[in-house]
Amino acid sequence: MARTRQCPECDAPVRLSKKYCPECHAVVNPRAPEDPIIKVREETSFRTMLLLGLAGMAFFFSFGFFLPAVLAEEPGFFWVSAAMFAVGAALSIAALIVRVRARKKIAHLMEALHVKCEYCGGVNDKDMHRCAFCGAPLEEPTVHVVMT
Ligand SMILES: [Zn+2]
Ligand SMILES: [Zn+2]
Repeated sequence: MARTRQCPECDAPVRLSKKYCPECHAVVNPRAPEDPIIKVREETSFRTMLLLGLAGMAFFFSFGFFLPAVLAEEPGFFWVSAAMFAVGAALSIAALIVRVRARKKIAHLMEALHVKCEYCGGVNDKDMHRCAFCGAPLEEPTVHVVMT
C-alpha cells in the first residue's frame, strides 16, 4: 500500500507522490513533483514560443533586407535576406519538431499514468481503485514492456 496523506479539503487519501488531490484538486503535498504531463506541456509551449519568436524576428529581418535588395538592386543584401529567411524557416521547423515530439511524449505518459476502464472506456488516474465515470472496480493492468 502506497503511503498516503489525507486531503484537508475532502478527506480523500492522496499518495505522497501526488501533488494534487484526485478528488478536489487541492494542493495536498506541495513538495511532490509536478505532474509530468503538465511539465512537458509547459516546457513545450515555452520552447515553441521562443523558437517561433526568433523565427519571426529572422523573417522580419529577411524582409527588411529584401526590400533594399530589390529597390537598390544590391545582390549583397539579397543574400543576407535569403540567409535570414533560411534561419527563420529552420527555426519554424525546429518548433514544429519540438511540438510533435512533445505530443508523442505526452501520449506515452498518458498511457503510463492512466488506466482505461474496461466497462465504459473512461480514462482514470492510475491511483484510482474505482472508475470515476461508472464506478466499476479498476484492475491493475498487465504491464506491457515497450522497448523504445
Ligand atoms: Zn480533496
Ligand atoms: Zn468506467
